[in-house]
Amino acid sequence: MAKKVGRITLDSEACKACYLCISVCPEKLIMVSQRLNQKGYYPAQVVETDPDKQCPKCTGCALCATICPDVAIEVYRE
Ligand code: SF4
Ligand code: SF4
Repeated sequence: MAKKVGRITLDSEACKACYLCISVCPEKLIMVSQRLNQKGYYPAQVVETDPDKQCPKCTGCALCATICPDVAIEVYRE
């Protein structure tokens, strides 16, 4: 059976930059943005991956969304 693939959306304006999501993602798919949000934080953002290359992929494990205190992350399983 094929491995389930997921995807996340991250609301950068809801993010308070605690970076817990970065620490828990087993695939290292979340990084710190270089751009300040309206609250004055450098929010987390999803790492850009090149679909043509062998990049780590979101498994839809939802660890990031579960740990986020600000409910800024949504997980979709495809
Ligand atoms: S866990 Fe939530 S609030 Fe913390 S850095 Fe990640 S998205 Fe932002
Ligand atoms: S759902 Fe899992 S694999 Fe996907 S970004 Fe979140 S922690 Fe990483």
